[in-house]
Amino acid sequence: MIETSLQTVRDRIQQCMKRAGRVDEVTLVAVTKNHPVQAVETVASLGVTDVGENRVQEAKEKQLTYKGPTVRWHLLGHLQMNKVRQAVPMFDLIHSVDSKKLLDEIERVAAKHDIIQDVLLQVNVAREASKTGLTVEEFPEVRTYASTLPHVCVRGLMCIAPYFENPEDTRPIFRVAHALYEDMKQYFQPEQIQYLSMGMTHDFEIAIEEGANVVRVGTAIFGERVYF
Ligand SMILES: *Cc1c(COP(=O)(O)O)cnc(C)c1O
Repeated sequence: MIETSLQTVRDRIQQCMKRAGRVDEVTLVAVTKNHPVQAVETVASLGVTDVGENRVQEAKEKQLTYKGPTVRWHLLGHLQMNKVRQAVPMFDLIHSVDSKKLLDEIERVAAKHDIIQDVLLQVNVAREASKTGLTVEEFPEVRTYASTLPHVCVRGLMCIAPYFENPEDTRPIFRVAHALYEDMKQYFQPEQIQYLSMGMTHDFEIAIEEGANVVRVGTAIFGERVYF
């Protein structure tokens, strides 16, 4: 049942914060991809304020029929250039920005709407070929470039760790991401860099121990996804 598993995830987050001696807050993004809009409505009615989707089209369909308290919509999946026009007005935070080209397109669309789009820069610390994201070497140039765009506001960093049988193996990856995140603060306005998005069902506790303040959890709340 979603209510019970959500409570379990929340308890685990709180216990982990305590163990880590942290007194700040962690935002739980409930990842609703491949689940119907009712899943969003259910968790929102249980106090979840942030939901994550991977694909623009799927999120759009849900937003059109969603009935429930206002939630913040997060785009977690890779954003294609030709989807930016749709995505910008839809998402409160885009986690997956990983190129200057994409930044340019977000800037262009956000300027047109006269809004400032919040984004995270995605870093592929482990250099997995199967995943998008900036390498650690590419990161500084894109970060510096992003800071020049008036309609893009970089709020922090997102990292997806590789799947390891033993989640403990993700710790060094999360450490590198945390260090990059802290380093970002000197290149932007104070207060602007606030979100370190890392940790999923399999590894969110390690991520919290390593400083994550946004975790993206799907399976532990909703069960296994069914792909059609
Ligand atoms: C699917 C997904 C998640 C959630 O994964 P679970 O293992 O189901 O918790 C988190 N982040 C991203 C980027 C995802 O694509």
